[in-house]
Amino acid sequence: MARTAVIGGNWKMNLDFEAAMELASGLRNRLGSHRGAASIVFPAFPYLRPVSKRLSECNISVGAQDLHVEAKGAFTGAVSATMIKSIGVTHVLVGHSERRAVFGDDDALVARKLTVALDAGLVPTLCIGETQSERESGDTFAVLQRQLDSALRAHTAAALDSLIVAYEPVWAIGTGLTATPEQAQEVHAWVRAHVSALLGPSFADALPIQYGGSVKPTNAAALLAQPDIDGALVGGASLKAESFTEIVRAA
Ligand code: PEP
Repeated sequence: MARTAVIGGNWKMNLDFEAAMELASGLRNRLGSHRGAASIVFPAFPYLRPVSKRLSECNISVGAQDLHVEAKGAFTGAVSATMIKSIGVTHVLVGHSERRAVFGDDDALVARKLTVALDAGLVPTLCIGETQSERESGDTFAVLQRQLDSALRAHTAAALDSLIVAYEPVWAIGTGLTATPEQAQEVHAWVRAHVSALLGPSFADALPIQYGGSVKPTNAAALLAQPDIDGALVGGASLKAESFTEIVRAA
């Protein structure tokens, strides 16, 4: 089945305000009327509203990098799904490996975040992936199965209609190491088959599964040519309008 490619740009905790707005302008100029792959950028919280205003009326969506599970109240420093939604932002990352490793988001919390995002009408990108030691000990598929089962089992296919999954081997994030297209394809095919077992073949067939981990203009085309790789989640190379645009065009 032909799935529309989706390229995400995770800006993480990078860029001052001026640089973020310059990047948004650069993307608007290059990709504003692009009709191929869909793109989504994930700026830091303070930039969400101005970046989405700058990108309004162009074909680039804006998402938050995380959300808190509570709707409101005494949760200093936290940002809720309804707050994100109320400023016109449409997408959100859930379970990024840096949230899991640095902030302690475990599978149970990631599952709650996914539920809250869906309930708020945000389009979630669920990030999954194994560490280097998990891969070396042959646990890649067991880890992915645990992450997927925990996040998805509470939902029907209809409730997960907007879901995007990003397979991001932790050993390839920000390291310059990339899974080979064959390594990534093997995992993506496994993820699709497992999702099919959980939610049915038509859901799995339509599900966009992104690859993430040191994707660059030089390796994007080969990764994106694989039959089960439907896009990319890009960190470092999303911080320059030129390189992000090249990746979107490669899709
Ligand atoms: C990411 O943060 O999701 C990511 C894949 O980063 P990088 O492209 O820098 O490896």
